[in-house]
Amino acid sequence: MPIPSIQSSRARRLFSQMTLTVLAGGMMALALAQSSYTVATGDTLFAIAKRFAVSIEALQAANTLAGNDIRVGQVLVIPSQSSPSNAPVGQTNAPVGQINVPTTTNLVTTIDKATSITVSHKARFIPGDAVSIRIGNSPNKPNATWNGEALVFGREGSTWVAVGWELLGEPPKPITVVVTVGNTSIQSQLSLVADPKPVQNVFMSQQVLSTLTDANRNREKNLLEAAHSKARSTAQQWQQPWQWPLVSSSISPFAQARRYQQGGTVNYHYGEDLRGKVGTAIRAANDGIVVIAGQYAIRGGLTAIDHGAAVVSLYFHQSRFVVKVGDKVKRGQIIGYVGATGFVNGPHLHWEMRVRGEATDPKQWVGKVWP
Ligand SMILES: [Zn+2]
Repeated sequence: MPIPSIQSSRARRLFSQMTLTVLAGGMMALALAQSSYTVATGDTLFAIAKRFAVSIEALQAANTLAGNDIRVGQVLVIPSQSSPSNAPVGQTNAPVGQINVPTTTNLVTTIDKATSITVSHKARFIPGDAVSIRIGNSPNKPNATWNGEALVFGREGSTWVAVGWELLGEPPKPITVVVTVGNTSIQSQLSLVADPKPVQNVFMSQQVLSTLTDANRNREKNLLEAAHSKARSTAQQWQQPWQWPLVSSSISPFAQARRYQQGGTVNYHYGEDLRGKVGTAIRAANDGIVVIAGQYAIRGGLTAIDHGAAVVSLYFHQSRFVVKVGDKVKRGQIIGYVGATGFVNGPHLHWEMRVRGEATDPKQWVGKVWP
């Protein structure tokens, strides 16, 4: 799938991860921004204070801590900085070399005391990390843009949720999210940070490589684009957490950079490859409607399920199907069986979770309603 064009911020203004600007009725004002942070293994109060450019005393006061003791899983309130919009990113974020896991820091703010609308999302993310924008207490469906392009909202209980764009292979950059509820617009900033990973060699035989013709690519691209387009107007079909389509180990993770032949171009892996023998049952990751079930040259035996709210799950390389287009399927229902069809060098299930046609990390959906 082509990656939708992303408008990059030419201004490249440096924002603090806690900067939040409210634009209401044409007036611009700086809202009191407060964020929270969940203590991870290895964290110290000193390191957290340094990371958010706040003093230890301010952290202790905001969290009524008597000393420096914190525990893993504890949620700390990060007090506002005195001049957040002027703080360079480099001073508020951990050094790039130390970032090897997605940050779980959230922006949480109340912008309207009467309705208590909250906006929360990760402040920083690495390529391949699913980023959900959550809007709480909004009476109406919000509108939102991600660097100028419209997001599609679904529901998690009473919270509106949209997933941002995947940015595999792109350099670090700031992302601007603008959420509009009624007459109020809330602008916030998050940043894509570098996470260089080695390129994996997954060399394919000439026979397998020969399936990558323009005709095959275009046929499958058009088929998938139609499915993704349809899913935008389908109502959200699921309410329960997502589950693995088959319980197994991963043999190639989402977002892995790969080369399919010596000296070839780098491709990104848009799914999770799960180990499985030919004939192993594949189950629907959640409730939805089957929109594709057929054999294709590259994706092999392919099933696609439209879950609504612009979300489609895809299951490649199957040997056999047990569902057909138009079938309503339930979470956990068998939809087909593992095979080694299409662009593969052995049997496995390639599982994708796409939002608006954009790939997201399937692992980050498992056990959750939204990632
Ligand atoms: Zn794969």
